[in-house]
Amino acid sequence: MTSYPRTHLKAAIVLAVFLTVIITALPTKEGAKTARVPVSLSIDPVTEPTSLPYEDPVTKLEAMQWTSVMIRSGDNLSIIFSRLGLKASDLQAIVNVGIDVSVLKRIVAGKTLGLQISNEGELLGLRYEINALERLQVTRTGNTFSAYLDILESEVITAFQTARISTDSPSLYHAGKKAGLSDNIIMKLSYIFQWDISFALDMRKGDQFAVIYEEIYVEGEKVKEGDILAAQFQNMGKAYSAVLFQDDNGLKSYYTPEGRRLRKTFLRDPVHFSHVSSNFNLRRLHPIHKRVMPHRGIDYAAKKGTPVVAAGDGKVTLARQNNASGKYVVIQHGRQYTTKYLHLSSFARAVGPGKSVRQGQTIGYVGSTGWATAPHLHFEFLVDGIHRNPRTVKLPNANPILASNMKRFKTSTAPMLMQLSSIVGNTGFARIPLKIPRTGS
Ligand SMILES: [Zn+2]
Repeated sequence: MTSYPRTHLKAAIVLAVFLTVIITALPTKEGAKTARVPVSLSIDPVTEPTSLPYEDPVTKLEAMQWTSVMIRSGDNLSIIFSRLGLKASDLQAIVNVGIDVSVLKRIVAGKTLGLQISNEGELLGLRYEINALERLQVTRTGNTFSAYLDILESEVITAFQTARISTDSPSLYHAGKKAGLSDNIIMKLSYIFQWDISFALDMRKGDQFAVIYEEIYVEGEKVKEGDILAAQFQNMGKAYSAVLFQDDNGLKSYYTPEGRRLRKTFLRDPVHFSHVSSNFNLRRLHPIHKRVMPHRGIDYAAKKGTPVVAAGDGKVTLARQNNASGKYVVIQHGRQYTTKYLHLSSFARAVGPGKSVRQGQTIGYVGSTGWATAPHLHFEFLVDGIHRNPRTVKLPNANPILASNMKRFKTSTAPMLMQLSSIVGNTGFARIPLKIPRTGS
């Protein structure tokens, strides 16, 4: 990784402004792959706006020759070069730079590619925004190219937010949005607590949460969020707390304040952001058969095509179809546990009998095959061959208390847990004691 000279950075900012202002309209006609369209016809050259901030002849000259190209679905560098009439030998010379430009093999549709092209149509440079903080820059020197990575200086700020489940905001998603949290943070929060709380089943009016997370700023502007550092979720009168900790192997995970990992062997819900349409009930009146038939599972209503994930690590024993269950998958988890997923619209690729699956891996998609009135997942959880209520069954803990890391865990998480405790205390949370480990013991 190389650093980026300050002057270049300044120039780059001016250019970035240009590139966002000028959205290049490329010809929409397909089959442009073979037509070698002159650059001047296919794309708008970047022109100088009437009032240019930081008037600088070098910047102006550079800016005149840079063009931004919107990457289309199905594009790769070769297609783009061909579309713009750029030399295949230049593309080869860029590829020859090696590992440093390997990110260009995976350019993402919707992002822009910056290209610096001389008046003679020769490629002088290329820029690609890898993410909000990193940009790949490729520059010509004679007949070869060199690559370097621009890393924008960023600042990490710790932010916090609290929210409450109410009649107006009945779900984690609604409450989080109302509190101004991004989809990203809401999703991360749901993943942290997914082993203990069913966000599809268990949300109650008055439930509340507090979350401490990182916000990443570049040049005074928020570009994205980082990790959630700590959170507490009060659900149905019980408080669940989580704190982020990096163990001796460099692995970051969430732990309870006592040092137990939150991750468990089974997820509560195999479909994210769905709602329960029918609970586990051994005396249910069946909607199709109109008679009392036990409902030995939980139904999650969700749109057709919503991914269904494996509740735990295991081995697929069945992936087939019958009249009643439609397309269904059965997974064996060790000797004791079995989970079943019914009415799928389709199976995920690589899911078949004998295949191993990981917890959270997509195994199929919600549908309404078999006896189903609307798209939903019917999920069953069996312990020693007996159907149990997935909502109330006691799930085994995956990870015991970490022993070797305990001292460092207590010292390093104490300040964050103290902060969490203070946020919870200051915002009218119900006072559910949160155990703060003592430091330096
Ligand atoms: Zn069902």
